[in-house]
Amino acid sequence: MKTQIEIAREGTISSQMMDVAAEEHVSPDYVRQMVAEGKIVIPWNHNRKPRAVGIGKGLRTKVNASIGTSSDIIDYEAEVRKARAAQESGADTLMELSVGGDLDRVRREVIAAVDLPVGNVPLYQAFCEAARKYGDPNRLDPEMLFDLIEKQCEDGMAFMAVHCGINLYTIERLKKQGYRYGGLVSKGGVSMVAWMMANGRENPLYEQFDRVTGILKKYDTVLSLGNGLRAGAIHDSSDRAQIQELLINCELAELGREMGCQMLVEGPGHVPLDEVEGNIQLQKRMSGGAPYYMLGPISTDVAPGFDHITAAIGAAQSSRYGADLICYITPAEHLALPNEEDVRQGVKAAKIAAYIGDMNKYPERGRERDKEMSKARRDLDWQKQFDLALFPEDARAIRASRTPEDEATCTMCGDFCASRGAGKLFAADLRGDKI
Ligand code: SF4
Repeated sequence: MKTQIEIAREGTISSQMMDVAAEEHVSPDYVRQMVAEGKIVIPWNHNRKPRAVGIGKGLRTKVNASIGTSSDIIDYEAEVRKARAAQESGADTLMELSVGGDLDRVRREVIAAVDLPVGNVPLYQAFCEAARKYGDPNRLDPEMLFDLIEKQCEDGMAFMAVHCGINLYTIERLKKQGYRYGGLVSKGGVSMVAWMMANGRENPLYEQFDRVTGILKKYDTVLSLGNGLRAGAIHDSSDRAQIQELLINCELAELGREMGCQMLVEGPGHVPLDEVEGNIQLQKRMSGGAPYYMLGPISTDVAPGFDHITAAIGAAQSSRYGADLICYITPAEHLALPNEEDVRQGVKAAKIAAYIGDMNKYPERGRERDKEMSKARRDLDWQKQFDLALFPEDARAIRASRTPEDEATCTMCGDFCASRGAGKLFAADLRGDKI
């Protein structure tokens, strides 16, 4: 079977491209053209057939939620509940990143619980299984890794973060640089670096890149080039090691596209706001416009407990400057395994960030929804305010928990409601659309 990129290059519009075009209010041929150029990807899997979601140029910024067990907390039902919570809260894609318990079971149960495209990181299971089998993850046999990639694709993975861009040259840059305030923060990345150093060998995912794309192409799974040396601290942002890996990932994005595989590039991490635009420009320029997947980014390191907010601030900025997919961050980041409520909070914060980013990325599309909300507030039209809200149930619940004396107002100002006062003073004058 062919991949979306191969179909698009033949001039054919697939049913998935049609679905994306309808959802995004763009023409099917625009989607086909962008898929053919590798500027839009549609995470898919011939075995599973998830919801068709377009990621890339000219489309709404998408939000990913990551869930999964840890070695400390293994609760399969909780992971299924978290997957459903992510979908209900509006996530566009889901990553299943378990490292504890029966990894095949949790992957299959999570996939069955949602219709979202589901992605993963195959290195996690590979190193977990090598540690269980040999007592040492560094004894991982590359053949086992390729077998696992195939098995996970067979199970229905729509996209896969694979750390192909770490090679011996990248590690050399890291060593010569001689510092990392935040160390290495990617589980897959640090495991691969440890394996390469212990075995004195090149990364098999880099060395046999055509084998990786060959497996993923069979299922039309998107290859997301993992950012294993991403900065995990503001002071490491845009350092030479990270940029070196980005450079290689951008080369591989071009190579993979030529091979007919859908390609996505993963970014950081932790980035101060003034470096976000440059980071995205660099990725877009070097990769030939491949869709960019930013992990937030977290914009300050000093607000544990509120990293859904620090990441949402970075995410709004990254969406504005062209990031195409945002990975949510939850309030539990850096502190604990997220629970169901953390997942909901994380998705909502990232959705708001993506919405704000899109208002600025696509100013030509107007800001009608915001204008209508402003008018509804001015007119104290509560029903309309809820209808326009990104998360109406949350807004309703807060209002219902503190009911005002006068139903027209709210308990914030009560008798001193400015909107009610202005309405009385300028009943007719303030209704014009030009104000
Ligand atoms: S009471 Fe205050 S906050 Fe509430 S609607 Fe009126 S002006 Fe707005």
